[in-house]
Amino acid sequence: MTVPPSAPLPSATPDPLRDPWIAPMRQALAEAARAPGTGDVPVGAVVLAADGTVLGTGHNAREATGDPTAHAEVLALRAAAETVRGGGGRRAGDWRLTGCTLVVTLEPCTMCAGAIVLSRVDRVVYGARDAKAGAVGSLWDVVRDRRLNHRPEVVTGVLEGDCAALLTAFFRDR
Ligand SMILES: [Zn+2]
Repeated sequence: MTVPPSAPLPSATPDPLRDPWIAPMRQALAEAARAPGTGDVPVGAVVLAADGTVLGTGHNAREATGDPTAHAEVLALRAAAETVRGGGGRRAGDWRLTGCTLVVTLEPCTMCAGAIVLSRVDRVVYGARDAKAGAVGSLWDVVRDRRLNHRPEVVTGVLEGDCAALLTAFFRDR
């Protein structure tokens, strides 16, 4: 499966909120496109440092690994934490991803929204909404629950059409 092409950008109206996340979302889409090789639903995620460095990536690997928790976001957060730990400059055992942004093609579920809060990322950016299970604005809004002491910023709808098309094609072709 290939990532669907996007509409050309020059005629598009500038969108200062979403435009900075288009390139990282393309990386997340490329990661998502790797999932169906194992029968996994194509969802991809990328964790970026504050300077834009990619710290970790992940794609849905539930079927590949037989692990019900192997969602793209969880795998990307784990990979990023591993990178940060090994990168020096931070004290050993520091698992926090403060200053980081998680970019994912599909709105996170309750588990992943919980993991996002626990990881202390500054921001979560997603493409397609998940009206059936989304926990970042659709069914629940876990990451912006005022009862929690950490609430990341949320940016929605980045390359939404491309992200949704990848999923639609996967379910159509099965
Ligand atoms: Zn999830």
